[in-house]
Amino acid sequence: MPQLAAPTDAIVKVTRTTICGTDLHILKGDVPSCEPGRILGHEGVGIVYQVGAAVSTLKEGDHVLISCISSCGKCDYCRRGMYSHCTTGGCILGNRIDGTQAEYVRIPHAETSLYRIPPGADKDALVMLSDILPTGFECGVLNGKVEPGSTVAIVGAGPIGLASLLTAQFYSPAQVVMIDRDPYRLEMASRFGATACIDSGVDDPVAKVMKLTAGTGADCVIEAVGVPETFELCQALVAPGGIIANVGVHGVKADLHLESLWDRNISITTRLVDTVSTPMLLKTVRAGRLDPESLITHRFRLDDVLKAYETFGDAARSHALKVIIETA
Ligand SMILES: [Zn+2]
Ligand SMILES: [Zn+2]
Repeated sequence: MPQLAAPTDAIVKVTRTTICGTDLHILKGDVPSCEPGRILGHEGVGIVYQVGAAVSTLKEGDHVLISCISSCGKCDYCRRGMYSHCTTGGCILGNRIDGTQAEYVRIPHAETSLYRIPPGADKDALVMLSDILPTGFECGVLNGKVEPGSTVAIVGAGPIGLASLLTAQFYSPAQVVMIDRDPYRLEMASRFGATACIDSGVDDPVAKVMKLTAGTGADCVIEAVGVPETFELCQALVAPGGIIANVGVHGVKADLHLESLWDRNISITTRLVDTVSTPMLLKTVRAGRLDPESLITHRFRLDDVLKAYETFGDAARSHALKVIIETA
């Protein structure tokens, strides 16, 4: 049972959580800041159980969405809306401090890291707002400056790529092309509104995208995988004047082909999700403009969390996108 450690903390009784690709990276040992014994998980919804003395905007019994990013709201980074780099917060939940794959979790900077939700709201759908939707939207769609009539290519049709696909449609792009090697995920993408899907295990994605764009390439290319090969593919897909918006978590160096890009007027962006768009995304979900529940493929009880990890980790066979873990 976690205890309040600062007056700005809250203890939240977790009702739903999920597993993220980042959790798999942690299990593989790719994230040294996460020490053995840590409770994982940085996504979820729950009910406020206890608040510290300095918390005035939340009270026991409030239903809340837990943001994957903890932010103090006061440091220089937070004042600029860059919550991901908060000097006493950021990406700490389920990493540097115990996370949400548990019955209860301690949330630091509770007032600025939790979002109140109505008691009747669809809790499963809202879990998608802790991380993947703001990540796909902020790092992919906003940084990639998706515009009405523009052409978007998304490399990687996993949960994050699909979250970018869903939120790119806020801006009415003319084309959204999804590229992946998993036919099941591409089928989901076409159901979620992709105008073209390219199986890069079968077809040459560069030739196909050039054909779809009359030889120019895509105005916005979103990298949602995180390996050198896909980052290099993005460089071959981007149109003159376009943007490569990197979302993927890269563990090794990737080549930048300046010899072919130096005169193309392109930009490359990187970002750790700030979750500044969370209030807006909450409104779109509540208004039925966005249906993140479609990303949920499996459901488990907390007792079966190992099975949940197995299923999520073997997505090629299980066809898992997001798994919901019911904790209460
Ligand atoms: Zn995550
Ligand atoms: Zn801060």
